[in-house]
Amino acid sequence: MISLSEASEGPLDVAKRQIDRIAKILDLERGIVQILKEPRRRLIVSLPIKKDNGEIEVFTGFRVQHTDVRGPYKGGIRYHPDVTLEEVTALAIWMTWKTAVVDIPYGGAKGGINCNPKLMSIGELERLTRGYIMLIKDFIGPFRDVPAPDVYTNSQTMAWIMDTYSQFKGYLVPEVVTGKPLQLQGSEGREGATAMGAVYCIIEAKKKLGMRLKDSNVVIQGFGNVGYNAACFLHNLGCKIIGLSDSKGGIYDPEGINPFQTYEHKRKTGSVLNYAGCQDITNEELLELPCDILIPAALQSQLTKENAERVKTKLLVEGANGPTTPEANEIFAQKGVFTVPDILANSGGVIVSYFEWVQNLNREHWSEKDVFSKLENKINFSFNAVYDAMKKSETDMRTAAFMIAIEKVVSATKLLGLWP
Ligand code: NAD
Repeated sequence: MISLSEASEGPLDVAKRQIDRIAKILDLERGIVQILKEPRRRLIVSLPIKKDNGEIEVFTGFRVQHTDVRGPYKGGIRYHPDVTLEEVTALAIWMTWKTAVVDIPYGGAKGGINCNPKLMSIGELERLTRGYIMLIKDFIGPFRDVPAPDVYTNSQTMAWIMDTYSQFKGYLVPEVVTGKPLQLQGSEGREGATAMGAVYCIIEAKKKLGMRLKDSNVVIQGFGNVGYNAACFLHNLGCKIIGLSDSKGGIYDPEGINPFQTYEHKRKTGSVLNYAGCQDITNEELLELPCDILIPAALQSQLTKENAERVKTKLLVEGANGPTTPEANEIFAQKGVFTVPDILANSGGVIVSYFEWVQNLNREHWSEKDVFSKLENKINFSFNAVYDAMKKSETDMRTAAFMIAIEKVVSATKLLGLWP
């Protein structure tokens, strides 16, 4: 375990420290560790956009490709005012472990543009997206690097990406990007895939812990793709959603919140706040609500050494990437919080992205039932492999997941060798 005295760091420091820790356990040689810590390629692009008012604004975009030893680079694209090269690099490294732990033939990558999409029109977002793809088009491709959605990007963004790339090729290339709309060769089930994957993990974890799912009290931070869909799936399975939040704050009702109606309220008012019958709370208070299941589904570094002692959940399922700092992780381990780590808990998105890519390459279209059944098999198999490794190594779920993932990447790296 990592010392509590170590100061809080940025996500890239955390990602590198995770590698160091597992390298020690697996007794990896220094050169291999160096390879794992450095992405193969980091692109920084400058994106001048003509705004609707006629002014020019220049945005900065990134694409970081960590490793492709197990298959083409794969990872989402994030639009957020806090996006930095450091953050995108950490997210790219985590993508490598995610694709490895669930054993899909991809490497890890991530993209992002530092912008505030909430202050931009659809037209501005389209020009920004197309400008970004124009500059990185030679570095992505169906067998090179396959982007997908992340925070504040969606199926519309993916449609623009596919179209821009295809315009340069001269023919439609749906397999260049996943998370596309259904009308443009997207996959059934992709929209809810990440949340559904997290729900399959919850069901497996509950079985292992001997706890029943029905009537469990659930708290979810973030009410976007992952948070909203997880809330709906769990509500339909008989769980009680007692707390929800978005970037403006949270709501709490010990009697249970209907996520479908909350969505309508958010659509009309722009936030979950002031929802009838609920108490408004802050995002900080939300994370500390007593509950059976806590799902952080917003941004990274939400559970830290500052608040971990006050977090009162039995089961932590990381919908977001990197929501828990190593210090908080150590506190949770001491408190006996069973944690399903991000690289496993939110892998449903990339698994169904992989299914979308396979369908596109074969010009097939699978039913939602088929997609979810394949997802369930894949994620349950991975969950149980991690659980068994945890028991065998007498460690925690996160360490076991990272051990499995890093071992796979190291083995592929060694088998390929270094060339030239
Ligand atoms: P999204 O843009 O659809 O939703 C993000 C949500 O987080 C919104 O409700 C927003 O209001 C809320 N939010 C933003 N800042 C916040 C803050 N400071 N405090 C509380 N809430 C805040 O994004 P998403 O696709 O749902 O992604 C959420 C997380 O899940 C991210 O960490 C992302 O990397 C991870 N993830 C997403 C997918 C996917 O398929 N979408 C897959 C794997 C991991």
